[in-house]
Amino acid sequence: MNKKRALVVFSGGQDSTTCLFWAKRHFEEVSALSFLYGQKHAKEVELAREIARKAEVSFEVMDVSFIGALGRNSLTDPSVRMDEEKPEEGCLNTFVPGRNLFFLSIAAVYARERDIHHLVTGVSQTDFSGYPDCRDAFIKSLNVTLNLAMDEQFSIHTPLMWLDKAETWALADELGVLELVRRDTLTCYNGIPGDGCGHCPACKLRREGLEKYLKSKNL
Ligand code: ZN
Repeated sequence: MNKKRALVVFSGGQDSTTCLFWAKRHFEEVSALSFLYGQKHAKEVELAREIARKAEVSFEVMDVSFIGALGRNSLTDPSVRMDEEKPEEGCLNTFVPGRNLFFLSIAAVYARERDIHHLVTGVSQTDFSGYPDCRDAFIKSLNVTLNLAMDEQFSIHTPLMWLDKAETWALADELGVLELVRRDTLTCYNGIPGDGCGHCPACKLRREGLEKYLKSKNL
């Protein structure tokens, strides 16, 4: 019988690292795939590699920097000043249009070559900062599209879809990796690992979640 294998779309951030350890619990063999998409903080890929090493999963990086060049956003373009608050209309300019569409499509082709049919991604609709490609409807729709595109039966798993940040910390704790996630991952839009810069939108979300979780734990 085929081994149950999963491929995690892995950035080395809090969410995808939690998903990596979630996948390790649910699948017999786990691989991680990271993307260079023109992000200003390309060192996140090196941190991702290090986490994958500690998790003892295979790790590969794919260069898809054309994604960052396609649409203007503050994560890939140094001349765009990053939004710290959500604007009245539209989403934060940290939104990289098409990112999850490309990542998951490429991951599916990559997985198919390796006879892997389970894809895992750390997107969450609960704290999705207004990013449309983190919503459940998009992931379900893409899952159908990928299956039709390649005549395959992929399952896209989204363990964090309905969790808020505090619940994501709780899951990391339950998986025994709270400290690793807190210390080794990079979520900060300013490229500072661990607890980060403290004021970018990603840091705020991460810290508020952690504080809420630790408080609930000590009650
Ligand atoms: Zn930050």
